Amino acid sequence: MTSTTCEFCAIVERDDPDVREVYRDENVVAFFPTEPAVLGHVLVVPRRHVPDIWGLKPDEAAQLSRATVLLADAIREAIHPEGLNVIQSNGEVATQTVKHVHVHLVPRWGNDAMGPIWPAKTDYSESSKERAMLGVRSAVRHLQASAEPPIAPEDRRKHLDYIQAVVTRQSAASSAAKGWLLPIVTATFGFALTQHSWPLAALGMVAVVLFAYLDANYLRSEKQFRRLYNTVARSSRQVPLFTLDPVDADEPVPDDAPALPRWRAFARKYLPERSIWTSWSIAPFYTALLILGAGVVVVSAI
Ligand SMILES: [Zn+2]
Ligand SMILES: [Zn+2]
Repeated sequence: MTSTTCEFCAIVERDDPDVREVYRDENVVAFFPTEPAVLGHVLVVPRRHVPDIWGLKPDEAAQLSRATVLLADAIREAIHPEGLNVIQSNGEVATQTVKHVHVHLVPRWGNDAMGPIWPAKTDYSESSKERAMLGVRSAVRHLQASAEPPIAPEDRRKHLDYIQAVVTRQSAASSAAKGWLLPIVTATFGFALTQHSWPLAALGMVAVVLFAYLDANYLRSEKQFRRLYNTVARSSRQVPLFTLDPVDADEPVPDDAPALPRWRAFARKYLPERSIWTSWSIAPFYTALLILGAGVVVVSAI
């Protein structure tokens, strides 16, 4: 949701000309609040309208954290404060006023107007501290167990390399198939003509059909792996880490979907679809050879 009344969303969309913006990337925007608590005070917000810390997705949390550290470095370099507070507030009771999650970076000096931000002294019993610790500890465990483990960027890169290797191999195999077919066709058609043997020419045509089928399968598989590549690169779907099964890139078939008739399931598995047969790397090459073959059959039959 992009809340139209949200002042931070307006800044993200550059609707507010008075804003002193200091940083912007595809996920995060950072700017000065209109009334800084201390000169150099910066707010960092995710571009997406997320009300508070509990609405952040793992990726957004990582982006927000990275930008926060970057801005802390920039503030130190540019403003040379004696210290720095990172303040992130959720809920009215915690003094959150704008309901778009944000991180405050507040440079600090001994004589600034902030004052102490912590209470002087509290008095909790040992048993209540113990209970609270056990509660949080077990909550962490169950949250971690239910969360999908994030995929490390270097693992994703490795996975993309593996898929790319398969794509390259398929396309090399397709070129190789064409390379093998040409001498076969030349030999069979040539002999058919000199020997006036139309069955030999027909045999050459059978070879053309077989190689076309082979090549179409390479192309189909190349396309499937390209799709898997894009799925992994955009992380548009969660796929098993390092999978080399292109089916993982497909939408899962719902359990209540009607089963295909057996012949269609068979055709789908073994026959490349029409767009493959009519593609530029299949149709012109093999159609030309088939027409040539038909001509040779006719000529060598008379
Ligand atoms: Zn917002
Ligand atoms: Zn705030």
